[in-house]
Amino acid sequence: MNTNTLIQKLYDEDAYLTTFTACVKEVAGGELVLDRTAFFPEAGGQLSDTGTLYAPDGKGGEIALTVRDVQISEGVIRHRLELAEGCADSDGPFVGRRDPGDDEDASSELLERLLQPGMTLRGEIDRERRYDFMQQHTAEHIISGLVNARFGYDNVGFRLSDNSCTMDYSGVLTPEQIPELELAANRVIWDNLPVLVSFPSEEEQESITYRSKKEIASDELRIVTIPDIDTCACCAPHVRHTGEIGLVKIIRLQNWKGGVRLCTAAGRRALSLFTEEHDMITQLARSLSTSWENIPDRFQKMREETGLLKKELKEYRKNK
Ligand SMILES: [Zn+2]
Repeated sequence: MNTNTLIQKLYDEDAYLTTFTACVKEVAGGELVLDRTAFFPEAGGQLSDTGTLYAPDGKGGEIALTVRDVQISEGVIRHRLELAEGCADSDGPFVGRRDPGDDEDASSELLERLLQPGMTLRGEIDRERRYDFMQQHTAEHIISGLVNARFGYDNVGFRLSDNSCTMDYSGVLTPEQIPELELAANRVIWDNLPVLVSFPSEEEQESITYRSKKEIASDELRIVTIPDIDTCACCAPHVRHTGEIGLVKIIRLQNWKGGVRLCTAAGRRALSLFTEEHDMITQLARSLSTSWENIPDRFQKMREETGLLKKELKEYRKNK
């Protein structure tokens, strides 16, 4: 089967779409190709969406298939599937004895028997995870746009996973420049600017200037614009308005290949970080019987006291 006919990228049209139906085109080796999908595949440094696909079980019910990973290659989007817990032992038409040492093969075989070309599946993306990625990713556009406009540096690397978001720049930023950059990025968030997606024609492409990490074929160019802040070629889902990001915090600055790497936390991640640190500081203040503002002073005094005690102990041991 020719899987390379156009696969509709539903995530391109609507980043907020997290449930959909699609037809099976091909299944092999535990990987499934659909005629359309809302699952964003791993691309541009961002991990793929995860979630669940539901297939009819032949008895009026459904079998859940876990989507662990989604990859795109030459326009073909492949969903890596795993049978959800218990499926292989059900008494449905897909019963198979699973050899403990041969789990992967057994699983692929079951999938091939279960999923027939033309069959309609129901898909559900992990909504919270997708939205978290949209917040982190759109925050990256804001920071990269600001860094480019203010310092002339290019964004040369981006990595977004479940617990880390990093962006690399072609020039050096100093620790002193970070607070102002961070405040400017948050001002863009609070201004609640629109995040616009367009597919400019070849003619239109000539009149726009945009950031891009690589050459992109003109018929595949997707432009994401935050007016007056950033224009960038990007294939990933973003929030519709910058206000949805809520907050972005630059949590680390490090030297990286002649430039710098920033590590950021936006949206819920920024809140989680604040909560974690706040809880730790509150606990620390309580155990020192002071308020959090006095922790540095108290800590300094404790260091001095410990230094004196060590000195006294040394003297004592010497004179013993
Ligand atoms: Zn993007």
